[in-house]
Amino acid sequence: MRILLQFPEGLKQKALEYAKGLESEGNDVFISASPTFGACDLALDEMRNISADKLIHFGHAEFHHVNANVEYVPYFVDAPLTLLPDSLGHLRDFKTISVLTTIQHIHQLDKVRKFYEENGKKVVIGKPYGFAKHSGQILGCDIGSAASVDNDVDAHVYFGGGMFHPLGALLNTKKPFLVVEPFANKIERIDSFRETYRKRSNGKKMRALNSKNFGILVSTKNGQHNMNLARIIKQKVEQQGLSAKILVANTFDFMSLNNMMEFDAFVNTACPRISIDDTERTRAPLLSANELMEVLAMKRELKAANVKPEF
Ligand code: SF4
Repeated sequence: MRILLQFPEGLKQKALEYAKGLESEGNDVFISASPTFGACDLALDEMRNISADKLIHFGHAEFHHVNANVEYVPYFVDAPLTLLPDSLGHLRDFKTISVLTTIQHIHQLDKVRKFYEENGKKVVIGKPYGFAKHSGQILGCDIGSAASVDNDVDAHVYFGGGMFHPLGALLNTKKPFLVVEPFANKIERIDSFRETYRKRSNGKKMRALNSKNFGILVSTKNGQHNMNLARIIKQKVEQQGLSAKILVANTFDFMSLNNMMEFDAFVNTACPRISIDDTERTRAPLLSANELMEVLAMKRELKAANVKPEF
């Protein structure tokens, strides 16, 4: 069988080992060398171009159904639980908490829950919106496990590595948010980032008030493609007498976007994290669809009041 292997960046170092194993079973094995951001980003074009019979995607659970022969191989990592006792001091004032983690540690979530319950906490585990597969699991674009229980808890606890995943959950909740990072040996309340990102978003919207030419980003990645939204956005922009063009790429390269000097604002319909995490990489404001709607509403109000924005 002709097989294409696809690994996220953190697992690419294992590619050769897996390839050799499958080759020794008589398969014709290829390895995708493209950047891989998640199961939203399956190497389907590469699979088609080399006529592979199967794509094996490592490290992520299925994101949504695709019409291709794809096998998902999860990669679980046992993280030390030794920081949990120290986290109790940070949770002293909170009786009911939610616990959250990523797919890599989802098999440990039950142990984390039991630990907090044995130490007097009521633990609520929320459900994802659909892209993530497990209760308590969060993705950068599926924070349902946190947001769906925000009204029921006093605080959220994220157990896992890095800020990418908890940041999305933080920005879509209101309660105190504790990050327990077992590998960095760090426990941190990250609530103050909400204000940082709110100010950053306001700054983008203010800068976009003068914009006349909008570039709408559409990704061709299987789980990020949103042409319908892009067309709606284009229509909304044009209805206001402004110009909009749809810009298509698989992975958006910020240097290339910055070379498109005629556009004075970009609107993201691809991975929702682009308009949160990458806003400082573009010359022009990089808005989410919601931020664009706010900008258009502000523009209408200013026009009605005959006020010129001073940005
Ligand atoms: S956050 Fe972005 S990169 Fe990650 S799974 Fe969601 S769409 Fe893909």
